[in-house]
Amino acid sequence: HMADMAMYHAKKNGRNRYDWFEPRMEHDLRMRAELENGILAGIARGEFVPFYEQQVDIETGELTGFEMLARWNSPQLGLVTPDRFIPVAEELGVICDLSEAIISQALRDAREWDSNLTLAVNISPVQMRDPWFAQRLLKLMAEANFPPERLEIEITENCLNENIGLVRSLVTSLKNQGVSVSLDDFGVGYATLAQLRALPFDRVKIDRNFVARLTRNEDTATVVSTIAAIGESMNLPLTAEGIETENLRDSLRRIGTFKGQGYYYGRPEPAEAVRARLKSEARLSNDAPPPLAPGP
Ligand code: C2E
Ligand code: MG
Ligand code: MG
Ligand code: MG
Repeated sequence: HMADMAMYHAKKNGRNRYDWFEPRMEHDLRMRAELENGILAGIARGEFVPFYEQQVDIETGELTGFEMLARWNSPQLGLVTPDRFIPVAEELGVICDLSEAIISQALRDAREWDSNLTLAVNISPVQMRDPWFAQRLLKLMAEANFPPERLEIEITENCLNENIGLVRSLVTSLKNQGVSVSLDDFGVGYATLAQLRALPFDRVKIDRNFVARLTRNEDTATVVSTIAAIGESMNLPLTAEGIETENLRDSLRRIGTFKGQGYYYGRPEPAEAVRARLKSEARLSNDAPPPLAPGP
C-alpha cells in the first residue's frame, strides 16, 4: 500500500524528520493516486471533452479555424486544464486512448463547420512512439468523414528527441494524405534553426510566453522580427499564440504576416458555443449560403 510505504520510508529517514516528512508525503501520494484513479474512471465515463480556441488571420481578422484543447470535466475537481492531466495520462500509458477519444469527438464537431475552417490538434511525443499512429489518425478521420486537408497536427520540439526516423516517417505518411504539421511552442526550450529543418513543417507557432514579452522588451521584438524574416525565407507561415491585447496584435502586424490566437480573439469554448457562433455567421457546413443581395 502506497501510504504505508511512505510511512516506512519516512520512519527509516530518522525520528527528527518523521513528523514533517511523513504526513506530507502520504498526502501527496494519496492525491496522486486519486488523480490517477479519477483520470482512468474519467476516460471510461467520457469526461474528457474538446474545447476550441479561434485561430485568426491577424491582418484581416478573418477566422481560419480552431485549435482543439482538451478539458477534463471532473465531478470532483470541476473543469481541469491539460497541464494537470496530460503528463499523468502519459505516465499511466493511457494518453493514446485519451487523445484518440477526444480527437474523434473533435473531428465530428469540426465536420459541421464551414469547409474552409481548419482543426488543429496537439499530439504528445508519447503518441509518436507508436508506429501505427499515422494509420490510426487517418482511420479516425475516415470514420468521422473528415477531410485530412483540414487537419493540422501540432507537435513540440520534444517530439524531435524521440526516434527521429520514426517521427519523420509518421509525419511523411500524414502529409502525403494532406494533413499539415506545425511546430508548437517555438521560442521556448532549445528550439534552434536546425529544428525548423528537422521535419517538413508547414507552420511554426511562436510560444505565448515569448509573444507576451513583445510589447515590453526591445530584444524580444528584434528576435520576433528575426523569426518572421526566417519564416518568410523558409516559406514557413507563422502563428503567434497568446495575443491578449490589441496592442500586441498591432505590434505583430507591424512585424509581419501572422496567424494569431489568444484571449484578445477569444477564450477556448465548448463545441456548442462554437456551433452557435458559426451558425450566427452562417458558417456551418449544412447552412444554406447567405441570400444574394437584391438586384437594383
Ligand atoms: P498549447 O498548444 O501551446 O495551447 C495554448 C494554451 O495557451 C492553451 O492552454 C490556451 O488556453 C492558452 N492560451 C491561449 N491564449 C491565451 C492567452 O491569450 N493568454 C493566456 N494566458 N493563455 C492563453 P491550455 O488549454 O491549458 O493547454 C495547455 C497545453 O496543453 C497546450 O499548449 C497543449 O500543449 C496541451 N494540450 C492541450 N490539449 C491537448 C491534447 O489533446 N493532447 C496533448 N498531447 N496536449 C494537449
Ligand atoms: Mg498547441
Ligand atoms: Mg502552443
Ligand atoms: Mg504554448
